[in-house]
Amino acid sequence: MTMTVLGLGAMGQALATAFVKAGLPTTVWNRSAHKAEALAGLGAVRAETVADAVREADLVVVCVLDYAAVREVLEPVAEQLSGRVLLNVTNGTAADARRLAEWASAHGVSYVDGGIMAIPQGIGRPESVILYSGSREAFDRWAVPLGAWGTGKFLGTDPGLAALHDLALLGAMYGMFAGAFHATAMAGTEGVPAERFTEDLLVPWLHSMVDVLPMLAGNTSVSEERRLVERVALTNIVSTSAAQGVPEHLIAPLRSLLDAHAEPAATA
Ligand code: NDP
Repeated sequence: MTMTVLGLGAMGQALATAFVKAGLPTTVWNRSAHKAEALAGLGAVRAETVADAVREADLVVVCVLDYAAVREVLEPVAEQLSGRVLLNVTNGTAADARRLAEWASAHGVSYVDGGIMAIPQGIGRPESVILYSGSREAFDRWAVPLGAWGTGKFLGTDPGLAALHDLALLGAMYGMFAGAFHATAMAGTEGVPAERFTEDLLVPWLHSMVDVLPMLAGNTSVSEERRLVERVALTNIVSTSAAQGVPEHLIAPLRSLLDAHAEPAATA
């Protein structure tokens, strides 16, 4: 079993390094060739061209900036890819993944899409989750070597499922971070150091709120009583933010959403 990693940015380097450290024969390629030097030092084979890199591999992993780059890298080597497994872990939409799977199928390539729910420093740890979808047969064949990256979860044969779940989880992360940065800015207006506020109050608070999520799962309706209570809190956050000079644009839309979901007033 031989593998190639195309794209050695922060994430591609971490993925290739995990393969090499697991003793898996790994070939690497990157558009800017110097990024392959450290991996060559660890024992990876450095390919001069994408075609050379693909020729060496049973499994071809592509990890670049976006799907435009994926196409730019792969289209010239479509013939060489035939008969191999392509695992694309580049961030994209579910539609992007489905289109690439069709392209792969038309060239005799087995396609697996991946969503990496970890930062590069987390690659190789069991708590790092990698989402997969697409060819079940190809995933099963490579599941053990891919375990070098973290814990794999196969979501289904629709190639778009990994991207859909990846983007949903990233959306949750961005929302949480946006709220956290807003909170830090509010506390900062009274000179509270961001590090102290984050460690002492923010992180424990967010942990305790995460525990509530299973109770809220699937429940999108808000009772009128609850809505009024939440509205008071959101109004106070918005007005305090404005008074303290913190832009309110992250919080104000939540109050508007709550108003949009108000039950219509009963008519006499
Ligand atoms: P980097 O910016 O570190 O690396 C980008 C990579 O894409 C480089 O190898 C770059 O090559 C390559 N690239 C960009 N455009 C082209 C092109 N037109 N042709 C060929 N190669 C190209 O990004 P990351 O490694 O961090 O991210 C890569 C993917 O991994 C992204 O889709 C990202 O969403 C995903 N990911 C990243 C995470 C992270 O925390 N970093 C977490 C989870 C997923 P060059 O070196 O020549 O510029």
